Amino acid sequence: MSGTVGDRTSLARHLTTDVSTEPVLAWRTWALSGRRDGTDLLLRPVAGRSRPWRPREPAEAACKHARLHAAPNVDCSCGLHGTRAIDVLRWARSPAVLGRVALWGRVIEHDLGFRAQYGYPQVLGLVCRFCFWQWGPLGSRPTVVGWFPRDELVPFCNPHLDLARRYGMHPRRLLAAGPVEVRLRDTYAVDALVL
Ligand SMILES: [Zn+2]
Ligand SMILES: [Zn+2]
Repeated sequence: MSGTVGDRTSLARHLTTDVSTEPVLAWRTWALSGRRDGTDLLLRPVAGRSRPWRPREPAEAACKHARLHAAPNVDCSCGLHGTRAIDVLRWARSPAVLGRVALWGRVIEHDLGFRAQYGYPQVLGLVCRFCFWQWGPLGSRPTVVGWFPRDELVPFCNPHLDLARRYGMHPRRLLAAGPVEVRLRDTYAVDALVL
């Protein structure tokens, strides 16, 4: 699961050079927001109202339950979450992007993964959430990205776009998934997700 480290993953490395510990590598999913033309892409946590992961700067954990301790805290659920295995993420709510992240700073280990103080993605790829829920990361790659009001972006494969429409999800605009994915990787200066 180590994967290849290309030139562009050096950003995650660069951002971690001021700490002495080696970062741990983990998997996670995000929701995605952006404008109707596919610009201003921003990775957002799938759960709660946590802060977005901004391009080209480390994400830093903050406790949203009680701000009286530094995140992550052993007795809390706060921190930037990452899992050891991809399959665990199949139960994530509304994933739009799957990626491998470097986590560093204070890191708390759990059976299934980690909660960390800092994080930054190394590789990113768009996922059709319906494929991901059913088949995991090896499901179909999305062909389109739907734009919804409030700048929510949702990748779909063609069959699941049809299904979503039958269930009342109507994207206001459809963008080709390929260029959105390339722009996402450029924005965050990361490599493609290869499984
Ligand atoms: Zn906390
Ligand atoms: Zn699908």
